[in-house]
Amino acid sequence: MSYAPVTPPAAIGFIGLGNMGYPMAQRLATAGYKLHVADLNADAVRKFCADTGATASDLKTLGASSKLVITMLPDGKAVRRVLMDADGVVSHLKPGTLIIDMSSCSPVDTRVLSQELKARGIDLVDAPVSGGVVKAVSGGLAIMAGGAAEAIAACKPLLEQMGKVFNTGASGSGHAMKAINNFLSATTLAITSEAVIAGQKFGLDPKVVVDIINASTGRSNSSEHKFPTFILPEKYNSGFYLGLMAKDLRFAKALNEAVGAPNTFVNAISALYDAAEKELGFQADNCEIHRYLEQHSR
Ligand code: NAD
Repeated sequence: MSYAPVTPPAAIGFIGLGNMGYPMAQRLATAGYKLHVADLNADAVRKFCADTGATASDLKTLGASSKLVITMLPDGKAVRRVLMDADGVVSHLKPGTLIIDMSSCSPVDTRVLSQELKARGIDLVDAPVSGGVVKAVSGGLAIMAGGAAEAIAACKPLLEQMGKVFNTGASGSGHAMKAINNFLSATTLAITSEAVIAGQKFGLDPKVVVDIINASTGRSNSSEHKFPTFILPEKYNSGFYLGLMAKDLRFAKALNEAVGAPNTFVNAISALYDAAEKELGFQADNCEIHRYLEQHSR
């Protein structure tokens, strides 16, 4: 199918105004798109509409009024519910409306959902993001877009308000890429925590350990950003729940399993975050994996 580029002031439906969705949708409103928004959290919807002049809509009105619908929800179950339930968005869309799922979901499930939507004449782009709340606010996200090339091209002007777009290929490939990245991100966080705790137990100052790692070959985003900003000051307020990271690791584990890739590390890291989530709760900050490892030190 061919699509015209989706540029302001096109009407956009945005579902999911959480830690990430709120600032991402805010950027679209600032760019001049007309937003219809929905979230289970009525306070977030009220605040967003007051901040930006967006319209609070039920899923039916949101679907019928939008040229393009974006979901930014916890997982694929929530995405499927808002899109495919009998009173969901999809039954109310006008022909030619595009859907972008920017949540982090299972790539395998996304392939299935995309085929179901295709059978109804609707293109789904999976376009998960990396960069956290800071980059969501600044418009500096990395956006991994999978799906039909014409659909991604039409979405590009809008996606570029939120970050840099990488075309990953077929449907589901954006979600696969996101699972791969978060496997690495969770791993560097956990192993840097283990290393810093070891240094500290030997008698080194943890700040000195992190400064030296950051001037050396062991550095990563975890040591350069998460340690100085959220962990060493014991703030643990990155805006990314531990439960969401544990979910992404389960997708990464399933992906390695499905394609027959090596899985020693992904299995171990996934098990670690599952155990930490069980003890600290879904809404603990993902950086609290450091606190968990500290508490489980011998
Ligand atoms: P969040 O929990 O802060 O926000 C999710 C929002 O969805 C909430 O406001 C919730 O009320 C709403 N919601 C849930 N079910 C709903 C439904 N059925 N209908 C309407 N609204 C519903 O999560 P977040 O941190 O904004 O993350 C969103 C997605 O982005 C997740 O898939 C996450 O893994 C991913 N992600 C998060 C970060 C981060 O740093 N927080 C970074 C990259 C990707």
